[in-house]
This record gives sequence, structure tokens and C-alpha cells, in this order.
Amino acid sequence: SDMDIITVVGSGLIGRSWAMVFVGGGYRVKIYDNQPGQAAKAITEIRKQLGELEEVRMLRGELNASQQLALLSSHDDLSQALEGAFFVQECVFEQLEVKQSLFQDIERLVGKDVILSSSTSCLVPSSVFSKVHNRSRCLVSHPVNPPYYVKLVELVPHPETAAMVLDTTHALMTKVGQAPVYLKKEIDGFALNRVQAAIIAESWRLVQDGIISVKDIDLVMSEGLGMRYAFIGPMETIHLNAPEGLEDYMKRYGEGIRRILNSFRPVPEFSSEGAKSIINEMCDLIPNDKQHLSARIERRDQLLLGLAKLKKEH
Ligand code: NAD
Repeated sequence: SDMDIITVVGSGLIGRSWAMVFVGGGYRVKIYDNQPGQAAKAITEIRKQLGELEEVRMLRGELNASQQLALLSSHDDLSQALEGAFFVQECVFEQLEVKQSLFQDIERLVGKDVILSSSTSCLVPSSVFSKVHNRSRCLVSHPVNPPYYVKLVELVPHPETAAMVLDTTHALMTKVGQAPVYLKKEIDGFALNRVQAAIIAESWRLVQDGIISVKDIDLVMSEGLGMRYAFIGPMETIHLNAPEGLEDYMKRYGEGIRRILNSFRPVPEFSSEGAKSIINEMCDLIPNDKQHLSARIERRDQLLLGLAKLKKEH
């Protein structure tokens, strides 16, 4: 068909993950990186990872690892990489000027219906695509690391993005096994990072104000709130926590929640004197050298794999 080739631009951590997700869904994926040889190296790394996933029976889709690998090609030439693609997923450095001029180059090389999608975490679409002429085919598709196990993708429109483009992207993400959500408008931080910022801020303040330790605030999340949040969000949580649902919940607890919210202290200075003791407390638990951090990252990914398996059964 004419909708089976996807180009991934930038072959770092996120580019490699997207490539794995798309070949899992049976798409042909052409990987481009502007560092010569980098895209080929990415395929070597993906080969290793697909093999490991096959061993633990967590490979996505219907194809085996070698069939998925056969769908991949690496390119050091952008125009060659874009040839035949209906969808372009950009995953280069998080620098506005780099993304802006890259999309300007890409637009010159593709047809007007090709969807241009950016993985940016922190830049809004109206900035990223400001040098593109036809912005109706542009959007941000923001993944969460590691996308192979954490399936959320935030679809964020440019003010000019066509509804069809959002829907086509939503269908594509669903087909490859991701969990897409629509933002109706662009906003700094999108939804995920805004909610995350709220959690980080209050956790930080509770430690800084001497209410709780670093270790214990993390347990509040991992042994408390997080137990639910892997399956149901904050809205369903409150809907289920009063006999007659959400409205009832707010009748009972709304005032209390407002009282707590009004007692929140100002946005923390994450770099002040007080930060030092938080940093020390964290580094006593997990030293910040490469060896300790990699071991914890490995553990995190193993645990996420187990959770992804569990979620698949439900
Ligand atoms: P990375 O540094 O691992 O990889 C970037 C890659 O892009 C490198 O291989 C680099 O050679 C290549 N590159 C740079 N400029 C290029 C250009 N002009 N043309 C082609 N290739 C180019 O970065 P990453 O962590 O994979 O992040 C990529 C994007 O994904 C960023 O926008 C980031 O905000 C977003 N993102 C990252 C995460 C995460 O947790 N790492 C999560 C969600 C979104």
C-alpha cells in the first residue's frame, strides 16, 4: 500500500524506540541521522533489543524479531530516507532552531500530504513548525520513555492542524499498540509534564519543609497513589471513592481539597541552599555515579516490563 513507510529522523534513544514500535506494527521504517553511520549503529542496537524482547516473549505485534528487522533500513541521506513515506517522526536534539530548520528541509523534500510529527517534550507545535508553510499536516506526538512499555502518546495540534491529520495519527498510534490521547490545544508542558510538575513540586516542598524524607515520599507514590494510577486515573479514582460518584465525592471532600490546595507553598527554587540536603539524601540512597544509576534504570525497565505484561492481561 502507499501508507506503509514511516521515516524516523534522529536515531537516539527515542528515535530507536519509535522505530521498534513501528516495525512491531508491521510498518517499513527508514531511519535517518545527520551523524554519518549513526542510523546504521541504531539498527545494530535495535537488533540486540528485539532479540532480547523475543526471548522474554515481549516482542510486539505478529512478526518475529528477524521479520521486524527486515522492515528497517538506515540512511545518511535525508531525501533518500523520506522517499515513499506517508509519516515522519522527528526525534532530534531538543533545540528549537535545530527542529525548525530540519522541518523546513523536510517540507521541501516531501509531498504536501505527508504528516510531520515531532517527539518534542518541551516545545509547543506553534514554535517547532513556525518555518513550515503547510502547517495543517503538522503535530507533536509526545512519547514517554521508554515508549515500548509506557504506551502513552500525547497528540498536540498546531493551531492550524487539520482534524484528519490528528485522526490519522491517532489511528496509526493505536494500530502499533500505543495509547494516544488528544490535547485540544497546545499548552506548555502538555498534560503529562504539567501533572508531573505538580507532583514534583509538592513532593519537593514536603521534604524541604521537614515533613517527610526523600525515601518515604517516594514510597507514598510507589506503594500508595501509584498502585491505582497504573490502571485508573485521578478522575475515575474520585468517581469510585464516594457512594454516588464524582459529584458526591466533591460534596463530601471538595472543601477539604480546597483547604489543602490553599495551604500549598510557593513554587520551589530547585537550586537553593535547601536543595543541597535533598540532593544528598537522594545520593545516599542511590549514588549518582554511572554504575549505580544504570543498575537502577535496568531495574526500572524490568519492572515496567512486568507491569506491561500484567496490563496486557487486563
Ligand atoms: P538523543 O540525544 O538520544 O538523540 C538525538 C539524535 O538526533 C542523535 O542521534 C543525533 O545525532 C540526531 N540529530 C541531531 N540533530 C539532527 C538533525 N538535524 N538531523 C538528524 N538527526 C539529528 O535524544 P532523545 O532522548 O532521543 O530525544 C529526542 C527527542 O525526543 C527530543 O525532542 C526529546 O525532547 C524527545 N523526547 C525524549 C524523551 C526522553 O526521555 N529521552 C521522552 C519524550 C520525548
